[in-house]
Amino acid sequence: MTERTTVQIPGFRGDVIASDDHDYDDARAVWNGTVDRRPRLIARCRGTADVAAAVRFARDSDLGIAVRGGGHNVAGTAVCDDGIVIDLSAMRAVSVDPVRRRSHVQGGALWGDVDHETQAHGLATTGGIVSHTGVGGLSLGGGIGWLMRKHGLTVDNLEGAEVVTAEGNIIRASAEEHPELFWALRGGGGNFGVVTSFRYGLHPVGPTVMAGPVFWSAEDTTEVLRFYREFVADAPDELGNIVRLGTIPPLAVVSEELHFRPAIAVASCYAGPVEDGERALGALRRFGRPLVDLVGPTRYVDHQSGIDDTVPHGWHYYWKATNLTGLSDAVIDTVAEHAYRATSPWSYAAMFHLGGAVARVPHDATAYQGRDAEHNIIIDAVWLPGEDETVGSPETAWAREFLGALQPHRAGVYVNFLDSDDDASRVREAYGGETYRRLAEVKARYDPENVFRNNKNIVPAERRLKTTDTADGRWTD
Ligand SMILES: Cc1cc2nc3c(=O)[nH]c(=O)nc-3n(C[C@H](O)[C@H](O)[C@H](O)COP(=O)(O)OP(=O)(O)OC[C@H]3O[C@@H](n4cnc5c(N)ncnc54)[C@H](O)[C@@H]3O)c2cc1C
Repeated sequence: MTERTTVQIPGFRGDVIASDDHDYDDARAVWNGTVDRRPRLIARCRGTADVAAAVRFARDSDLGIAVRGGGHNVAGTAVCDDGIVIDLSAMRAVSVDPVRRRSHVQGGALWGDVDHETQAHGLATTGGIVSHTGVGGLSLGGGIGWLMRKHGLTVDNLEGAEVVTAEGNIIRASAEEHPELFWALRGGGGNFGVVTSFRYGLHPVGPTVMAGPVFWSAEDTTEVLRFYREFVADAPDELGNIVRLGTIPPLAVVSEELHFRPAIAVASCYAGPVEDGERALGALRRFGRPLVDLVGPTRYVDHQSGIDDTVPHGWHYYWKATNLTGLSDAVIDTVAEHAYRATSPWSYAAMFHLGGAVARVPHDATAYQGRDAEHNIIIDAVWLPGEDETVGSPETAWAREFLGALQPHRAGVYVNFLDSDDDASRVREAYGGETYRRLAEVKARYDPENVFRNNKNIVPAERRLKTTDTADGRWTD
């Protein structure tokens, strides 16, 4: 019998998982099943002190670091080959102060954890639209969701953060403490430290909201999108909308004969009184000949997890994304032409309607950029494990071609939608030159050695002259 090698991390009370542990394969798996990386160690932290101990240990042992929040990033940056994963998945506590309307959330929590606790008080903050997405990566990249037009992006609701720095020190960032770091955390991704706790502002939402999708046949796509363009131009801030183009998912709430039928859906959530939502959605629901209308009074927490099963862990995913200059006839024609060319019934494209409160925040208030984009699109190639050759190849080609066709209409990109083959130039595209330079200065101050580089990387300003960007956004000397 071979002896297990037990690694001790000084000052660490959590679990250290190595390749000879029975749960190693589960612990290294992330949401995207195409990602297959083998870290030397996974340090499953129990609290902030463990995170600090793991960072110091990694540095002393010359190990690369990956930080795992919810493990949802499509590029798989929560896990690395050879190095150490600082795994926050056991740090999911959420506390709510209903009087001050604020919430403290540990860095490994999922959005379902946050909604569950905050909705117990009839409160919410802008979070992702799938409840098994992590708060960590989503919050640090920007955070778009149903409530953003009324209450801003997730970063606009972030009031402060506890951060373990590249030195292994524990500091707080807010408008008063380390304000430049706080600016960078609100959009600059996981480049500046490990966030062990987020503090969000909360708003009264629901608990029942008017929400759900309306589906029309794929043949009606052009007409639906032209109508949608006018409909959202006058939409109140309370109304969040997402267009989904693909096939109708086989959900229990949809009759079986409609499952997998090519269709365009407009899904909505009205963050205000149900009666007002009913009025606001009237024209949309009356448009054309819907195949099925699932809009109705719904518990906000249920709406937040309604599509969870359509994007399960372990399937294979590949994304391409861009912000759009607008919904011109040319954009609509391109979207209608390419959206249904996917061969997998699970693939789809989704367009988020931004604007409202997102656009009212000055562009230099946070590191998140692209506030003037009214719409963005994400093209999601999805296939099952074992179908890489037969379906995966054509699906990834479909996503790339679709993005290529949108080239004349592109206007930046949301950093959290970038995949592993989106290179360093796309990270710059996400921020633009001025914001990227400011982020690089903050990076040089808080992480000059680029310890946190297994991400959509911001290269520290002082090192940039000495380094060469590699295709995946990492750097080498
Ligand atoms: C099904 C699905 C739905 C999505 N829906 C939305 C949506 O509605 N709105 C939206 O804005 N985005 C959405 N996203 C994109 C999402 O924002 C990113 O995938 C994000 O990276 C997920 O965060 P995570 O913590 O789960 O990811 P992880 O893979 O764990 O982390 C990604 C990166 O973030 C950093 N990171 C994570 N946690 C921390 C932390 N606590 N401290 C420091 N760094 C950290 C690390 O650099 C890490 O590599 C969705 C993604 C998926 C897969």
